[in-house]
Amino acid sequence: MGLSVTLQSPDVGPVYLDYNATAPTRPEALEATLAAMRTVGNASSTHQSGRDAADRVHLARRQVAYLLSCSPGEIIFTSGATEANNLALRAAFAVGGRLVTSAVEHPAVLETAKALTIDAPGSLLTLPVDADGAVDLDGFHAALVAGGVAVVSLMAANNETGVLTDLAPIVQLAHDAGVLVHSDATQLVGRLPIDLAETDLDLLSLSAHKFGGPQGVGALFVRRGIRLPYRPLLFGGGQERGWRAGTLNVAGIAGAGAAAEAARLSMADEAFRIACLRDALEEALVEQVGDCRINGARNRRLPGVTSITFPGTPADAVLAAMPDVAASEGSACSSGAPSPSHVLLAMGRSREEADSTIRFSLGYATTAHDIERAVSSTVHAVRLVQEAMSVAS
Ligand code: PMP
Repeated sequence: MGLSVTLQSPDVGPVYLDYNATAPTRPEALEATLAAMRTVGNASSTHQSGRDAADRVHLARRQVAYLLSCSPGEIIFTSGATEANNLALRAAFAVGGRLVTSAVEHPAVLETAKALTIDAPGSLLTLPVDADGAVDLDGFHAALVAGGVAVVSLMAANNETGVLTDLAPIVQLAHDAGVLVHSDATQLVGRLPIDLAETDLDLLSLSAHKFGGPQGVGALFVRRGIRLPYRPLLFGGGQERGWRAGTLNVAGIAGAGAAAEAARLSMADEAFRIACLRDALEEALVEQVGDCRINGARNRRLPGVTSITFPGTPADAVLAAMPDVAASEGSACSSGAPSPSHVLLAMGRSREEADSTIRFSLGYATTAHDIERAVSSTVHAVRLVQEAMSVAS
């Protein structure tokens, strides 16, 4: 049965530039999810229906593993990156020692780290970042020299700015000191290559909906052979080798696998095309608005992300004045909360600058026409808000 999905923003609907919040579902993922939902069977059952469900999970595990260049047995399916981060940090911290992370991590890491270390004062070290969002490696090195570190958790790509972390030297330094390395790679996976056969991470978290899979499904990579105390979040059946009890979300997992495969096959072309569109968006905004600033160095960012500060122009007012563009203030997880972006503050921006920043995130279905529409709406909205503010002052 044929399925049709609207992947490109029609002129009548809003231009969707919020891929870092969630990407539109890829048609391959939709097909695989629906196909799995049309059949019955618990992946743990031993009869034919159960084996069919288990086959779908098996295929998806291989597809996700292939995307990461790891082995299928190293993938634990979860409800998303939040759960994967919780699981990873909980198990690694139980090794005993300090937990090191950075000031720009997603709340799924920062809040987990705080909760785990609440009864052990001094056991959490949060590394600062520079004005471009790069983690302070000297601080990391000093922490390793001081000793007693159990695990370091650093994100592969930042969800608000797209700034990339150069993981290879971090892994090297950490492993030389016998320290485990976890990376929240939620924003990187499916957008840029990651090769776990090369980059020797111990633990990695991902979420399917960021690369065109369904929401509510993700995975934790746990490198074979690493020694971790058994610390599940959920107790129950022995699914996922005891790491994650509960009936498997077969449909979601099947969709995650199909999305991983589609992303892997198109990644090289997509990354280049998306980076060109992102650059066009930035250049047009800089030229037409004049007074604006891009956060994070261009050559160290995800291809599809731009975080732009329009000084003195509140982002909430600008976004309200451009309802035909779906973009966001900082991250979706913190939007709605009155506090400014902790990421931009950590990069040395003022509260006012952080509140005047918009994140556009592009993806596989973004077109040149979308960018033209987004530029004209944004320029119009910024001018409107600036005029209203100058009249009011
Ligand atoms: N980490 C990062 C970097 C993210 O961007 C997100 C999603 N915003 C998460 C973790 C949480 O992912 P999920 O919603 O799938 O739990």
